[in-house]
Amino acid sequence: MSEETSFCPKCGSARVDTSSLIGGVCTCRGCGWQGGSAELHKYQYDTGLLAGADAVTRFSMELRLLVAKDMSAAFGKFLVKWGFLPDKGIDVAVWGRYMNAIARAAAVAIVQTRDEIESEDKNGQ
Ligand SMILES: [Zn+2]
Repeated sequence: MSEETSFCPKCGSARVDTSSLIGGVCTCRGCGWQGGSAELHKYQYDTGLLAGADAVTRFSMELRLLVAKDMSAAFGKFLVKWGFLPDKGIDVAVWGRYMNAIARAAAVAIVQTRDEIESEDKNGQ
Protein backbone atom coordinates (compact mmCIF):
# COMPACT_ATOMS: atom_id res chain seq x y z
CA MET A 1 0.00 0.00 0.00
CA SER A 2 1.21 3.47 -0.83
CA GLU A 3 1.97 6.06 1.78
CA GLU A 4 -0.22 9.11 1.56
CA THR A 5 -0.15 12.39 3.39
CA SER A 6 -3.10 14.72 3.58
CA PHE A 7 -2.83 18.47 3.88
CA CYS A 8 -5.39 20.94 5.13
CA PRO A 9 -6.80 22.89 2.14
CA LYS A 10 -7.05 26.04 4.28
CA CYS A 11 -3.71 26.37 6.09
CA GLY A 12 -1.61 23.64 4.44
CA SER A 13 -0.89 21.85 7.69
CA ALA A 14 -0.16 18.13 7.54
CA ARG A 15 -1.65 17.71 11.02
CA VAL A 16 -5.07 16.61 9.82
CA ASP A 17 -7.17 13.97 11.55
CA THR A 18 -8.77 12.08 8.69
CA SER A 19 -11.81 9.92 8.81
CA SER A 20 -11.67 6.69 6.85
CA LEU A 21 -15.45 6.60 6.65
CA ILE A 22 -17.05 7.79 3.44
CA GLY A 23 -18.59 11.14 4.21
CA GLY A 24 -16.65 11.32 7.46
CA VAL A 25 -15.45 14.65 8.80
CA CYS A 26 -11.75 15.51 8.76
CA THR A 27 -10.37 18.03 11.23
CA CYS A 28 -7.22 20.16 10.97
CA ARG A 29 -5.35 20.43 14.26
CA GLY A 30 -3.63 23.54 12.95
CA CYS A 31 -6.46 25.90 12.06
CA GLY A 32 -9.55 23.94 13.06
CA TRP A 33 -10.81 23.50 9.50
CA GLN A 34 -13.38 20.73 9.08
CA GLY A 35 -14.55 19.12 5.89
CA GLY A 36 -14.78 16.01 3.78
CA SER A 37 -11.74 13.96 2.82
CA ALA A 38 -12.34 14.85 -0.86
CA GLU A 39 -11.44 18.47 -0.03
CA LEU A 40 -8.04 17.55 1.43
CA HIS A 41 -4.93 17.94 -0.67
CA LYS A 42 -3.34 14.52 -0.83
CA TYR A 43 0.18 13.59 -1.73
CA GLN A 44 1.03 10.04 -2.68
CA TYR A 45 4.68 9.14 -2.33
CA ASP A 46 4.92 6.18 -4.65
CA THR A 47 3.41 7.84 -7.69
CA GLY A 48 4.13 11.48 -6.94
CA LEU A 49 0.54 12.14 -7.93
CA LEU A 50 -1.62 14.65 -6.19
CA ALA A 51 -5.31 15.17 -6.67
CA GLY A 52 -6.73 18.64 -7.04
CA ALA A 53 -3.61 20.75 -7.29
CA ASP A 54 -1.34 22.17 -9.98
CA ALA A 55 2.34 21.35 -10.34
CA VAL A 56 3.60 24.26 -8.23
CA THR A 57 1.15 23.37 -5.48
CA ARG A 58 2.25 19.74 -5.65
CA PHE A 59 5.89 20.76 -5.52
CA SER A 60 5.28 23.18 -2.63
CA MET A 61 3.37 20.50 -0.70
CA GLU A 62 6.33 18.18 -0.78
CA LEU A 63 8.47 21.10 0.29
CA ARG A 64 5.90 21.87 2.99
CA LEU A 65 6.33 18.37 4.33
CA LEU A 66 10.11 18.80 4.29
CA VAL A 67 9.75 22.09 6.17
CA ALA A 68 7.38 20.51 8.69
CA LYS A 69 9.52 17.43 9.27
CA ASP A 70 13.07 18.73 9.12
CA MET A 71 13.10 22.51 9.39
CA SER A 72 10.12 23.66 11.47
CA ALA A 73 12.14 24.14 14.68
CA ALA A 74 14.81 26.20 12.91
CA PHE A 75 12.24 28.37 11.09
CA GLY A 76 10.25 28.74 14.32
CA LYS A 77 13.32 30.02 16.19
CA PHE A 78 14.09 32.38 13.30
CA LEU A 79 10.55 33.82 13.30
CA VAL A 80 10.61 34.26 17.10
CA LYS A 81 14.01 36.00 16.88
CA TRP A 82 12.69 38.50 14.33
CA GLY A 83 9.43 39.07 16.17
CA PHE A 84 7.09 37.36 13.71
CA LEU A 85 6.04 34.88 16.39
CA PRO A 86 5.80 35.45 20.15
CA ASP A 87 8.34 33.85 22.46
CA LYS A 88 5.63 31.99 24.35
CA GLY A 89 2.16 30.76 23.53
CA ILE A 90 2.64 30.37 19.79
CA ASP A 91 -0.64 30.01 17.91
CA VAL A 92 -0.21 26.79 15.91
CA ALA A 93 -2.51 28.04 13.16
CA VAL A 94 -0.38 31.20 12.71
CA TRP A 95 2.81 29.13 12.85
CA GLY A 96 1.34 26.75 10.23
CA ARG A 97 0.50 29.65 7.93
CA TYR A 98 4.11 30.84 8.08
CA MET A 99 5.43 27.34 7.34
CA ASN A 100 3.00 27.09 4.42
CA ALA A 101 4.05 30.50 3.10
CA ILE A 102 7.75 29.59 3.39
CA ALA A 103 7.26 26.36 1.45
CA ARG A 104 5.11 27.96 -1.26
CA ALA A 105 7.43 30.96 -1.72
CA ALA A 106 10.47 28.66 -1.86
CA ALA A 107 8.75 26.44 -4.45
CA VAL A 108 7.90 29.45 -6.64
CA ALA A 109 11.45 30.82 -6.28
CA ILE A 110 13.00 27.46 -7.25
CA VAL A 111 10.80 27.17 -10.36
CA GLN A 112 11.54 30.80 -11.34
CA THR A 113 15.28 30.27 -10.85
CA ARG A 114 15.21 27.22 -13.12
CA ASP A 115 13.37 29.29 -15.75
CA GLU A 116 16.08 31.95 -15.47
CA ILE A 117 18.86 29.35 -15.77
CA GLU A 118 17.20 27.78 -18.82
CA SER A 119 16.68 31.14 -20.54
CA GLU A 120 20.33 32.06 -19.87
CA ASP A 121 21.41 28.79 -21.49
CA LYS A 122 19.30 29.59 -24.57
CA ASN A 123 20.87 33.04 -24.84
CA GLY A 124 24.34 31.53 -24.69
CA GLN A 125 25.28 33.18 -21.41
ZN1 LIG B 1 -5.71 23.88 8.63
